[in-house]
Amino acid sequence: MKYLGIDLGGINIAAAVVDEEGHILGRSRASTPRGAVPVAEAMASTACAAAETAGIPLEEIAALGIGAPGSIDPKEGIVKLWTNLDFQNVPLAALTAERMPVPMPVYLENDANAAALGEYAAGAGKGSASMAAITLGTGVGGGAVLDGKLYTGFNYAGMEVGHMVLEHGGRLCTCGRRGCFEAYCSATALIRRTRERMEADRQSLLWELCGGDPSKVEGKTPFDAAERGDETAKAVVAEYIDYLASGITSLVNILQPEVLCVGGGIAYQGEKLLAPIRAVLDREDYARNNDRRTRLVRAALGNDAGIIGAALLPMSR
Ligand SMILES: [Zn+2]
Repeated sequence: MKYLGIDLGGINIAAAVVDEEGHILGRSRASTPRGAVPVAEAMASTACAAAETAGIPLEEIAALGIGAPGSIDPKEGIVKLWTNLDFQNVPLAALTAERMPVPMPVYLENDANAAALGEYAAGAGKGSASMAAITLGTGVGGGAVLDGKLYTGFNYAGMEVGHMVLEHGGRLCTCGRRGCFEAYCSATALIRRTRERMEADRQSLLWELCGGDPSKVEGKTPFDAAERGDETAKAVVAEYIDYLASGITSLVNILQPEVLCVGGGIAYQGEKLLAPIRAVLDREDYARNNDRRTRLVRAALGNDAGIIGAALLPMSR
């Protein structure tokens, strides 16, 4: 069986044909137009182009799945709210289905959930019964697949792990709460903290690594400087990992997933990031004495997780 998957972003539409194992057989890409009908038209034509690249006739495609940002009602196939494109109550699944030259079921899901499903079915969680995923990017995203089904809460707004509080009364978060996981562990938070600390240490190697321009600090900058022995960078990284380990341990204690996968730009630090968190889990995981423990791993599919998960949405329903 073959499936079409679409990763809809504010800038680009990426489509691919995916087999049931999660292998990508052909792709296509287009820029995202403005307006609901043009977006649906562009998604249909990009999906058709991906099928053509794969050399698969549309008649052999079982379904089309779309991962889209914002607040989604997957049951009705509606984008409830996506501020970036000014979408409000847009029946995106139906609009796209009407524009496909061959009739097929069209599924719609939140993009973070689609990415979690992709990792579960074909990436870091492959073969596991349950997996939780967090993404360390602009924010901290989350998703969970339990026994093959996406867990989204009864109103599809669940697994917003970025907005659980780590530090009561702490840093103000974009959501309005104080002390959220996201306010400490997003790439954005790490970059902000790095800039604060380097302002207080004009001798830090961090200045050299960003060419003297703090606006050029990236998520990897403090890790690079720490590896070269810079004390300020080491402190920034240690503090970051400390908060991240705290959040991950709480998540493990709540869900005890077989696999917890960490994605997003910061996750490219690999074992530099994960090994110290495993050490915290060995001390603080409530199930630390259990012979079955959550495996903490890096996400495996990178940017393809969303498109693969979108394609495999029919298998998670
Ligand atoms: Zn928050």
